Amino acid sequence: MARPNDHYQVTIVKYGTRTTTRSDVYLNYALYHEDDAPIEMDYFFWIVKNAERTIVVDTGFSSHGGGVRGRTSLADVGELFEYYGVDVGESPHVVLTHGHYDHIGNVGLFPTSKFFMASEEFAFWSSHNAQRAMFHHSVEDDEIEQLRHVANEGRMVLFEDRIDVAPGVEAIVVGGHTPGQCIVMVKTNEGPVLLASDAIHYYEEYERDMLSMSVSNLIDMYEGFDCVREMLRLGEVQHLVSGHDPDTLNRFTPTMGKFAGLAATIGTLEEHEGVRL
Ligand SMILES: [Zn+2]
Repeated sequence: MARPNDHYQVTIVKYGTRTTTRSDVYLNYALYHEDDAPIEMDYFFWIVKNAERTIVVDTGFSSHGGGVRGRTSLADVGELFEYYGVDVGESPHVVLTHGHYDHIGNVGLFPTSKFFMASEEFAFWSSHNAQRAMFHHSVEDDEIEQLRHVANEGRMVLFEDRIDVAPGVEAIVVGGHTPGQCIVMVKTNEGPVLLASDAIHYYEEYERDMLSMSVSNLIDMYEGFDCVREMLRLGEVQHLVSGHDPDTLNRFTPTMGKFAGLAATIGTLEEHEGVRL
């Protein structure tokens, strides 16, 4: 039996953090009649890998983009990618779930890669509405310009609704948080994984139907939660990976070594021909 080339190991990598307040992360927090309190927000990117290929999901914030917003960097993003097995020289595909600074900040680390982004997302960040304060504070102009540069080089795959990035890796547009926010489904030998990115910042946000402060369309964001609930109910998803929840790493298998505490995995890389769980 051939080694399955559509199953992967997912590595969740935490590269940044900050402390904020619940009233700063939940929209109209007063609606819930709860005391305000501190809350941590972690920053992740995700690596999807098997013997055949590597796919990167988001690239983290740049030192400038994180620095001007007072975020704490926990390690050098380029070093983390390298340590967790991403060889930029092999031009791994890169999925960009949306255009915010903490997801597209290091596109330049992948000078020969092909990128995948929802066409609605790509178009939005060049539209006049993107200049409005509610949206513009979440991006860096030169990083959006870099996306256009990637597209001009013919390295940007724009898609609508959904796309197979590779066998066993599917990006799906849900919108809500941003006009073309994507989620990414990945097959593993421990069951299907959903990288929700910022369709679900916090598990609580999804479990209690509490919308994030950062939203472009309230109804789409609520319906994104419904979409994920349905996937879990049907068994299409077994592992839900949030976009920013500090509890995320606790839910999966921790990695040891140099960056212990900053990463966790789902699924194993199968090392022997014919072994398929
Ligand atoms: Zn984010």
